[in-house]
Amino acid sequence: MQDKELYQQILGLVSPWTVASVELDHQAQEIRVQVEHPRGAKFRCSECDCECPIHDHADQRRWRHLDSCQFKTVLIAAPPRVKCPTHGVKNAILPWAEKGSRFTIFFERFAIDLLQATQTIKGAQGILRTSWEETWHILEKAVARGRARKTQEVMPRIGIDEKAFRKGQSYITMIYDIDKSTVQAISDGNSIDSGNQCFSQLSEDQIEGVQAIAMDMSSAFVTSAKANIPLAEEKIVHDRFHIMKMAGEAVDKVRRGEHRRLSSEGDNRLSGSRYLWLSGQEHLTDAQRLRFDEIYSRELETGKAWAYKEMLRDLWHHEDAASATIFFKDWYKRVIHTKLTPLKKVAKSIQERLTNVVSYCTHGITNAVAEGINSKIMAIKRRVGGYRNRENFKTAIFFYCGGLDLYPR
Ligand SMILES: [Zn+2]
Repeated sequence: MQDKELYQQILGLVSPWTVASVELDHQAQEIRVQVEHPRGAKFRCSECDCECPIHDHADQRRWRHLDSCQFKTVLIAAPPRVKCPTHGVKNAILPWAEKGSRFTIFFERFAIDLLQATQTIKGAQGILRTSWEETWHILEKAVARGRARKTQEVMPRIGIDEKAFRKGQSYITMIYDIDKSTVQAISDGNSIDSGNQCFSQLSEDQIEGVQAIAMDMSSAFVTSAKANIPLAEEKIVHDRFHIMKMAGEAVDKVRRGEHRRLSSEGDNRLSGSRYLWLSGQEHLTDAQRLRFDEIYSRELETGKAWAYKEMLRDLWHHEDAASATIFFKDWYKRVIHTKLTPLKKVAKSIQERLTNVVSYCTHGITNAVAEGINSKIMAIKRRVGGYRNRENFKTAIFFYCGGLDLYPR
């Protein structure tokens, strides 16, 4: 097989395009494949896809293709311009590249696969031998393509959640599809307006189709859900993991206060025990459980707070909202008569939103999905070393978590 035929096949070139020459530049470590077409060939208008005669040719251009062995491989051609009866003189559609791209479709597909596999721009960039900007641009275009193609399917169960872009500040708000584990909408901030912005990215059918919404107990998202989703009050489910996290933090506050008191009297038994009270017993190692058994006592404030927190878990094990409500009222009564101020605060917040906590029995949703997506986002952020700005960060979330069809045609 001649090198021309070989490259004809490697490039997947179809008529009327053929390989005119293949040149190896040792110095530049580059293989240049010149492609051409016969005179009188017809091409398709890039505006309307109709077959048109050639008007002229633009200047010769280069497209980076997949490497041949270790050599960078470049396709070179003078792109024809057609004379379209409807659109006048327009660029012809090229079978190997998308409009305006400096890379072939094969190359872009491979780059997208690499970006997904390495989860970092730098990682993909190293293998592709492209610049950060070029690699980022491929990712950005893939997201734009995927979002343009996206069909707005109804999502019966959604979640809304905030995420810090930089530690402790600068938030974004996301809506995700619980059943597909994908991010569907993103907006800046974590206010009522951020929520509204997110909901406005859903179609009317999607808004109508929402049956349940998971969220934390922050009033901003409750307000914007009520403003955007019909009968939201019946659909909101305050996330169980978020509530248990609040309860855990309350236990820790009690522990810190008590530890301060005890250690001023020379009693250090609570020191370094934070983790023991926060995690479920099933997550402790044998050594940790031993230590726990040693220090656990109902005489300790921390021990009491811990026991109430553990008891609260049962709230989500009820068949129906009515029995969950009875359970909670009993729990509330016990907690409210203690001196465990941080835990009493949690009890009151749950009490205020109880209908939308026990609605878990009806809808059975949590934002565990969001936790999964969050950890994915954290991992990406860590490995990529930041996305330079918030817009890039949002684009990257859609690329990795959007469930989009990213490939060029
Ligand atoms: Zn046209």
